[in-house]
Amino acid sequence: MIQLDGIHRIFQIGDEQVHALNGINLSIDKAEYVSIMGPSGSGKSTLLNILGLLDHPDEGVYFLDGADVTSFPDEKQAQTRHDKIGFVFQFFHLIPRLTAAENIALPMLLAGIPPNIRHERTQQAMQDLGIGNRANHRPEQLSGGQRQRVAIARAIIMRPSILLADEPTGNLDRKSGHDVIDILEELNKNGIGLIMVTHDPDLGSRAQRQIKMIDGRIVSGAD
Ligand code: ADP
Ligand code: MG
Repeated sequence: MIQLDGIHRIFQIGDEQVHALNGINLSIDKAEYVSIMGPSGSGKSTLLNILGLLDHPDEGVYFLDGADVTSFPDEKQAQTRHDKIGFVFQFFHLIPRLTAAENIALPMLLAGIPPNIRHERTQQAMQDLGIGNRANHRPEQLSGGQRQRVAIARAIIMRPSILLADEPTGNLDRKSGHDVIDILEELNKNGIGLIMVTHDPDLGSRAQRQIKMIDGRIVSGAD
């Protein structure tokens, strides 16, 4: 499903170059559950952003479902992202002035899905994630764990085949963090690919496969 060949990402800051990804080769099957671990600055988020088509590699090829997405024009990359990929972040990235239900429905609004279907799917997602009674709350009126559930509902509302999570429990207490992981693992059991960055070894070890990164390279778990 995912194949990366010789991926490099170099950030230029003034005169200095940061080689954030230094020759990444990686294959991930459909519906796999993979964790990515490594010290701060090792390139985990950069890798996830490239997998999620939020960033472009400077060198190398990314095949997604057999297509070379690195060669796609921007618009086709954006479409591919909308069709296939959901993203969950450490700091939720919800829109503050929208309610929970509106945040969840936003990707469907942008995709032109009719209001009755939007409403139905939003209700169902909120039920499934245990936030059915929070539809009209704005993010600031929700706990961290509830915000992350809203973010997960938004990430899966377009029924992506891959869910990318960058430290999804990093801003949560232990209990809420475990609840969020349970939800992500349940989604994976139902067939969605789960690729999760975490610095918590206990959480990371729950994945089928653990990828370890150091200095922009994968040091174990590449295949
Ligand atoms: P991690 O998520 O493992 O902590 P990152 O992927 O965020 O690491 O960063 C890897 C390296 O790339 C770091 O040295 C970081 O400072 C640098 N970096 C990441 N994003 C940018 C950016 N947008 N501009 C400049 N440097 C960046
Ligand atoms: Mg990071």
